[in-house]
Amino acid sequence: MKKVEYKGHAFINKLGGSNANDWLQYKCGHCSKEVSGAVVCTVKLEPGCFLRWLNCPECGNPSAQDAEGNIHPGSLFGPTIQGLPDDVNSAYEEARRTMSVNAYTSCELICRKILMHIAVNKEAKEGEKFAYYIDYLEKKQFITPNMKSWVNLIRTNANESTHTLASPDENRAESTLLFTAELLRIVYEMEYYVSKYVPESEDTDKTEV
Ligand SMILES: [Zn+2]
Repeated sequence: MKKVEYKGHAFINKLGGSNANDWLQYKCGHCSKEVSGAVVCTVKLEPGCFLRWLNCPECGNPSAQDAEGNIHPGSLFGPTIQGLPDDVNSAYEEARRTMSVNAYTSCELICRKILMHIAVNKEAKEGEKFAYYIDYLEKKQFITPNMKSWVNLIRTNANESTHTLASPDENRAESTLLFTAELLRIVYEMEYYVSKYVPESEDTDKTEV
């Protein structure tokens, strides 16, 4: 990031919200929404070049725009998945965050851990080897035969990040995260939508066709 000179409070321009320049379209790194955010204040570096302090109207959290136009914190990579248990959710959020700061090895290591989290969350024993958890998910049919090829990609990519010194490139880490997201969607999000949209009293098994 470019170094800029700090000149003190006298150079900070506070904005009131009544001009078009008092608002900025950006993707909020906290809530992942595209927002028209409030520009709270700016520092003018040169004509047309500003530092901006922003406030998200959706989640209320602050962000900043640097001299190159980048927003911090950066937006999370990958889709939001509904219905994740807390521990799985925080591991998945961590994986998404690592991608937004180009930490590709970390991303794959966390994706590997997410597979273990899913298995333990589905009642596998803790403290086992990684291979045990993959077998467990297959045995319990969370990984079905037609999912095996892409779940295997998460496994082989993550194993490579764990056991070799070479770092994965952006593309591979992206694919590892996106396949992990798909697995989470199948294991948790569908169940979540059923509980949200199908009334509890409705016994789907007995519904006549
Ligand atoms: Zn927000």
